[in-house]
Amino acid sequence: MKRRYDVVVIGAGLAGGAFAWALARRGQSVLVVEREARAGVHASGRNAGLVRRIEASSSVARLSREGASLLADPPQDLAAGPLYRQTGSILIARGPELAVWEAAAADAIEAGVEVERGPAADLAERSGLRSTDGIAFRTPRDGVADPHEVLSAFLASARAQGAEVAFEAPARLNIQGGRVVGVELPSGEVEAEWVVNAAGPWAAELVADAGGLALDLQSYRRHLFYTGPLAGVSPNAPWIWDLERGFYLRPESSGWLLCACDHEPRPPEDTQAATDAGNRLAAKVMALAPDLVDHPIARSWAGLRTFAPDGRFVIGPDPQLSGLFWATGLGGHGLTTSGAVGLLGARVLSGDASRAELAPFDPGRFLTAAAGVGERA
Ligand SMILES: Cc1cc2nc3c(=O)[nH]c(=O)nc-3n(C[C@H](O)[C@H](O)[C@H](O)COP(=O)(O)OP(=O)(O)OC[C@H]3O[C@@H](n4cnc5c(N)ncnc54)[C@H](O)[C@@H]3O)c2cc1C
Repeated sequence: MKRRYDVVVIGAGLAGGAFAWALARRGQSVLVVEREARAGVHASGRNAGLVRRIEASSSVARLSREGASLLADPPQDLAAGPLYRQTGSILIARGPELAVWEAAAADAIEAGVEVERGPAADLAERSGLRSTDGIAFRTPRDGVADPHEVLSAFLASARAQGAEVAFEAPARLNIQGGRVVGVELPSGEVEAEWVVNAAGPWAAELVADAGGLALDLQSYRRHLFYTGPLAGVSPNAPWIWDLERGFYLRPESSGWLLCACDHEPRPPEDTQAATDAGNRLAAKVMALAPDLVDHPIARSWAGLRTFAPDGRFVIGPDPQLSGLFWATGLGGHGLTTSGAVGLLGARVLSGDASRAELAPFDPGRFLTAAAGVGERA
């Protein structure tokens, strides 16, 4: 006899984990299928852990604030205490983009976020950065999460509420009569009312192979570097992101986690660190944080950030294949927003919220509009 669930979620990254949790707590029977032998092997386990409430895109900003609040004060069934450390954050903006970030900060303040604004030059002494021009937006309640802890919490809570998780289970969509009726796994077919496509960079090829929406998802590789322990780095120092110059750093295990904000197109893949990535970082460190230049890098790694052509998330029912629900394209925001994405998506999928609530993210927009680029962060 075929196994049957209300929902099969493809992918045990942050998107899939959050959907599984949000659906299971609504009483839906859920099976998560993950190709890898464990959860969070790709972007969801390789990200920088920054929790950030000021965003240039208003649609992402809303989900970021809801997602950050959920991590700060998770519901009982998700975690007993906060899922991130409130270290505060500092975004530095200048030049032509300053007006965008002034507006984004004003939007955050309007939404109730505490934001302090001041000259970036005042930061230098306590930050490890060279004194710099521009405006600093400090958000004291932002912070740093452990992505594995967040993903584990979603999956553990989903399981505790009846969901099942299968690893080493590469899935293909099973389509009959023009609708998705479940998935095909190496172990056999599984039927479902809905299949949630949370396959990250592989989400588009999963659907295109099955004759569904041809979505031009694009993945970009980004590297992170850990200095190893250094004297004088406070674990509670705020993370700092120079938006115009494309560089951020945050305390990590008694040292610094550094990023040069590289953005290199790659195919969907188990992406590895490039041998020359350190050179790009070194140039930025030299210019922006010269005190760190002489310290060797202890470890580096890379992950893929996946974007739709217009940079907005892709969440909602497929416009051509009934039974299929997209949950991908979370770009560089999938940790902060995951809980909010899962809760909103699960409400719409369960019929308790209208599709209009997902309007900015509706996959159907790619059938009707030529998507412009403009919301990539
Ligand atoms: C370097 C870097 C830094 C980042 N920093 C931050 C940050 O500071 N803050 C923040 O909020 N976000 C950050 N992000 C973004 C965040 O990590 C992503 O948005 C998020 O992890 C995307 O999650 P996902 O579940 O969509 O994708 P993934 O984590 O890629 O998960 C998709 C899963 O689907 C599985 N899968 C694919 N196809 C199949 C199939 N056919 N069958 C079964 N399983 C399948 C894959 O194996 C994978 O496990 C960063 C990302 C990177 C790369």
